Amino acid sequence: MPEVLEIESYRRLAETVVGARILAGHADRYLAKKLDQPVAWDRAVRGLRITGTSRRGKLLLLETDGPTLGLRFGMTGVLMVESQAGLDALFYGPHEYRAEWIRGGLDLEDSRRLLIHDPRRLARVEIAPDLDELGPDVIGLARADFDAALGARGEGPALKARLLDQSRLAGIGNLLADEICFRAGLDPRTPVGRLDAAQRQALFRALGQTLRTLGRRGGSHLGDHMEARTPGGLCPRDGAPMRIATVGGRTTYYCSAHQR
Ligand SMILES: [Zn+2]
Repeated sequence: MPEVLEIESYRRLAETVVGARILAGHADRYLAKKLDQPVAWDRAVRGLRITGTSRRGKLLLLETDGPTLGLRFGMTGVLMVESQAGLDALFYGPHEYRAEWIRGGLDLEDSRRLLIHDPRRLARVEIAPDLDELGPDVIGLARADFDAALGARGEGPALKARLLDQSRLAGIGNLLADEICFRAGLDPRTPVGRLDAAQRQALFRALGQTLRTLGRRGGSHLGDHMEARTPGGLCPRDGAPMRIATVGGRTTYYCSAHQR
């Protein structure tokens, strides 16, 4: 599933189409699900010039000389640029390409096309998306914003559920959340409000380390805990059995020994 690191890669790919004018937009009924109707995408984007890119968490933004365009990639969405030289796709992990999984995109005046490939049909396009529903981006997050996102001391939801809550902190998905808890030595089920100052500090450090290290390695699926992400898996740090639970609605792997 694309998380903030993958979307940041898509943003860098999208940088290659900055300056181009949009000739037409295409969206199937899945990609256009947040619009009134699929043709609304073409009507909104036709003739716009792409002037820049940005990102908030997992939401990729194309700035134009008109409204900002939002691209969401769901569970399996991949951004591709098709040129005369062929597809410049950003596939991460094992991926299969099928033309029928192209849900739509943008035709550009320079004969290139920006395409969204999405087997699971959960990717969405948006026109002038509302950023108020998203918390601050996790990349480059300040400590004060991190503390605000975690919330007040007390009880609160499970730590992992809070990390996944995009309205609190934008960009963390299932694999990054597990890797951050693994590196911080924290049980992902711990009520977030019960973390003490030292645990919050460890969590903040692990967040930064995880984003930097996995960004360098090339994706959310390249974390230290990944090799143990299988039934019967053993912790690569101490050899203890890994546990599997559902936390924050997602399948969660954590070490029975060092994550407390
Ligand atoms: Zn361990």
